Amino acid sequence: MVNKFDEQIQAFMRKTELRNSNEPEFIQAVHEVAETVIPFMTKNKSYKKANILERLVEPERVVMFRVPWFTDKGEYMVNRGYRVEMNSAIGPYKGGLRFHPSVNLSILKFLAFEQVFKNSLTTLPLGGGKGGSDFNPKGRSDREILCFCQSFMTELSRHIGSNTDVPAGDIGVGSREIGYLFGQYKRIQNEFTGVLTGKGLSYGGSLIRPEATGYGAVYFAHQMLLKNKMDFQGLSVAISGSGNVAQFVCEKVIELGGVPVSMSDSSGFIYDKNGIDTEKLKFIKKLKNIKRGRIKEYAAHYGCEYFKDKKPWGIKSDVAFPCATQNELDEESAKELVKNGIKCVTEGANMPTTPQAIEVFHKNNVLFSPGKASNAGGVATSGLEMSQNSLRISWTREEVDSRLKDIMIGIHNTCVEFGKDGKQINYVKGANIGGFIKVADAMIAQGHV
Ligand code: NDP
Repeated sequence: MVNKFDEQIQAFMRKTELRNSNEPEFIQAVHEVAETVIPFMTKNKSYKKANILERLVEPERVVMFRVPWFTDKGEYMVNRGYRVEMNSAIGPYKGGLRFHPSVNLSILKFLAFEQVFKNSLTTLPLGGGKGGSDFNPKGRSDREILCFCQSFMTELSRHIGSNTDVPAGDIGVGSREIGYLFGQYKRIQNEFTGVLTGKGLSYGGSLIRPEATGYGAVYFAHQMLLKNKMDFQGLSVAISGSGNVAQFVCEKVIELGGVPVSMSDSSGFIYDKNGIDTEKLKFIKKLKNIKRGRIKEYAAHYGCEYFKDKKPWGIKSDVAFPCATQNELDEESAKELVKNGIKCVTEGANMPTTPQAIEVFHKNNVLFSPGKASNAGGVATSGLEMSQNSLRISWTREEVDSRLKDIMIGIHNTCVEFGKDGKQINYVKGANIGGFIKVADAMIAQGHV
């Protein structure tokens, strides 16, 4: 995007790059925000005077620690653990934990930074944070996972708390890991509090939390389609990933009459021209959540095509949901999608679309929503889990789902309000400015924080 604020944006980015060298993902996330927030700040002098953006890109605190553990064979292992406590202006730090070999400070700072805006957009009192480890859970036994989680929480426990910092799951951290982490926190602190979200229903979890990110993304996409006089009925839908977010995107798309035709994992993608229906999705859930197998087994079972080491962006689809990981949809892929008539791209993952790909979508009038808006349903429902824990009550499935839907509609409206760009809505601009205002106002109100 070229605009008359380029010089200011470049000056700000030069300074940020200097202070955060070797952190490309973090720089990418900051740049995307700076491009839309800097022009907005120049019209609102109090933000500029308070130097808010420079303060926002500096984490309030970063914790790094050693995580020693041992394998079933008795080998001594060590990984690195992190918690980035980015911003607590509007509430306790909130954001997931990621266990993946690619985890490093750049990735966690980008995720924590995005989380600040996302959490603000939900309208709930949630600050932003993110954490995790470069631990690879793939192929590890339950006992090894337990050993790792206990060691990780032994150190993390001193930095978190239900009014301080409330982690949740992310890539590689699902209900099993949250259970092990919660158990260890309780043993160390001798208190049963809502210190983690995504908990099991038997010990303080919320109904709809597992479904929330995926359902929320589809509710958001539905709003975008409705605003443009379309809906999901009969639309073919490309989904990447086959984990938590992808599974529940698939489920809600089927419910709304769309036809999911692809899912993937880090080894490749399946293309099921006949559509993934409820029965087939059940197979995927069992394959991924219980057997912990690979997506190619779906192709073998249902006799559909499997593309090794490829992403599903070359297939014909009306709507795309990237739900695996950052930068998984590049410029080339965006051009392919446009060529094949894509109408709407909704990010389920965090920053899965590169800046060049976003530009392709904007230039071609493809509806595009950034993850900080469209995947906010997960953290919103985590916020609802925190409320239920504090009140010591449990809301029904319908109650939580209806609150989730209202929150997603609210976020969509915020994006529309702040994202006007001629006759179009620029959802990236809308989400950045809409998320920014509340945090910036709170920081100014609280003095020099
Ligand atoms: P899961 O671990 O449940 O699933 C991740 C999926 O993405 C798996 O299919 C995995 O394949 C695939 N994947 C992971 N890394 C890569 C990679 N480098 N290349 C290709 N595929 C990859 O994670 P979630 O579904 O929870 O998270 C997915 C995305 O959604 C992440 O960006 C996360 O930050 C974001 N998100 C998640 C939320 C949640 O509530 N869970 C909330 C908001 C955002 P494989 O099994 O082969 O590794």
